[in-house]
Amino acid sequence: YNANKGLGNVPEEFTIINKQGEEVIVEKTAYPMMFHGETSVLGIVRDITQRKIAEKKLRQSEEKFKALVNSTDDIIILIDKDYVHRGMYGRGMKKLGLDPKDYIGKKISEVFDQETTEIHIKALEKVFRGEFEVFTWRYTLPDGEIFLQTSLSPIYNENGEIDSVVGIARDLTDTHELLKELEEAKEKAEESNRLKSAFLANISHEIRTPMNGIMGFTELLKSPELPRDKINEFVEIIDSQSQHLLQIINDIIDVSKMEADQFTLKKKETPVNELLQKQYDIYYNLLHNRGNKNITLKLELPDQEHVVYTDDTRLAQVVSNLLDNAVKFTEKGSIHFGYQKNDPEHLIFYVKDTGIGIPEDKQDVIFKSFRRVNESMTRTFEGAGLGLAITNKLVEKLGGEICLKSEEGKGSSFYFTLPYQTKKYNSPSGEKSDKNKALDLCGKTIMVVEDDEPSRLYLEEMLKPTHAKVITAENGDVAWKKILKDHSISMILMDIKLPDHNGLELTGEIKKRYPDIPVIAQTAYAMNKDTLKALKKGCDDYISKPIEQRRLSELINKYLKSSD
Ligand code: ADP
Repeated sequence: YNANKGLGNVPEEFTIINKQGEEVIVEKTAYPMMFHGETSVLGIVRDITQRKIAEKKLRQSEEKFKALVNSTDDIIILIDKDYVHRGMYGRGMKKLGLDPKDYIGKKISEVFDQETTEIHIKALEKVFRGEFEVFTWRYTLPDGEIFLQTSLSPIYNENGEIDSVVGIARDLTDTHELLKELEEAKEKAEESNRLKSAFLANISHEIRTPMNGIMGFTELLKSPELPRDKINEFVEIIDSQSQHLLQIINDIIDVSKMEADQFTLKKKETPVNELLQKQYDIYYNLLHNRGNKNITLKLELPDQEHVVYTDDTRLAQVVSNLLDNAVKFTEKGSIHFGYQKNDPEHLIFYVKDTGIGIPEDKQDVIFKSFRRVNESMTRTFEGAGLGLAITNKLVEKLGGEICLKSEEGKGSSFYFTLPYQTKKYNSPSGEKSDKNKALDLCGKTIMVVEDDEPSRLYLEEMLKPTHAKVITAENGDVAWKKILKDHSISMILMDIKLPDHNGLELTGEIKKRYPDIPVIAQTAYAMNKDTLKALKKGCDDYISKPIEQRRLSELINKYLKSSD
């Protein structure tokens, strides 16, 4: 026992064994003093076993508490009365890349911007008054912005006073994003539902209008004493209304195809000047036939022909959609269109008119499906609001971009780009003259398998000028019998939907026995899927209904000429 140890006010702790053989922790403090004129030591030994056990327990429970708070994915913060961060725990810190050193000992206002500080102080004031508070806030970190939800609760001291606040902050960025996406999806669904209802109302009107014309004038044509010029006039009207109806149907099919992602491009080398010149001819005639002298149509082409590798039909469709609108929305003035090569990689096309123009706030929405400037039911202009949505998608598919400049009352200019890929272009003059030549199929036999009588008659009429012998069959059985009997058949135009047979299966049978007879499927479905099915089942090619003379001649050229 060393009385000098622990001298002064520094107590010393050690363990002794008492009489009962138990361990006792004692604290010894020794003070030097004079006793009876001699230097002595006063030693005080105190049993501190209970205190030590209590301290140990406290330490353990503190460690447990720390382990607990550190195991949470949230961030736990202690803030004192001066709004200084006193502690920060939780795995959330690491996850967000936060370092407690940047916060502990610092005031709220030192670590956050003014807006965030104010949000926090407002909440803390409430909690220091004894309330609980939950709030969400944005926090900009080097990696981006996050959303945190913080709940604050007061901490009372032994006197029942609030001396600090504990906060639990949770990263809700993912949930927030998800909610935002859900909200957006919901809005989109509601909008598309609303638009589709408006579209249905619109489209039934659009279809009914030309149908009325077609049916009404067909009825009038039945009158026996109709003079020739009236007949011609009515047929003209029926023709133009049918074209209009077909356009609407084609638009609907295009939109469905795009929505079903069944849209493919057929690219080939396309001479652009030639393509635009054709459009000019069409629209010049259209304006001319309407007797519209108030509009000048002008085509502006570079001297040199440019050949792009693109889908010519779709490019023509884009230009034609824009010209359709220009003609529709321009009463007088001019419509200029053309293209330029602005840089080595792009051609830029334009269609400019001096028409009614498009208000600025509508310039974005008109590119969306079913959207028009005037969406009310009292409509001055016909149209389903599909043209520009299709045009926009087509340009995108062709690899370009579309934009619009317009001022209300002054006119609109639509521009679009197209990637420019040069390939050597050989003028197809030979091919062209072939195409234009009247086909002479004297001595050939073409079979038309078609159950619908008007369609059969229509095909017969179209084939008449070729001098080919046309034999018809109204169903699969008749067709099969005639094929077995007549060995001169050079080509079959097969309707794939027959009353007694599936046209595609019949084609399979024909191809098995007569593999050399070309079979062309007539498909009413303009969907690629059905066309592909037809080709898979052995059809050599397809033609979609309504049948166009140009496509029919093209096919005859391809399949009958090659066997010459
Ligand atoms: P539609 O013409 O069938 O209504 P579009 O999608 O082609 O559908 O056009 C959408 C709308 O954009 C039109 O209804 C019209 O309000 C506006 N618009 C398009 N082109 C022009 C133009 N050249 N001038 C004025 N308005 C136009």
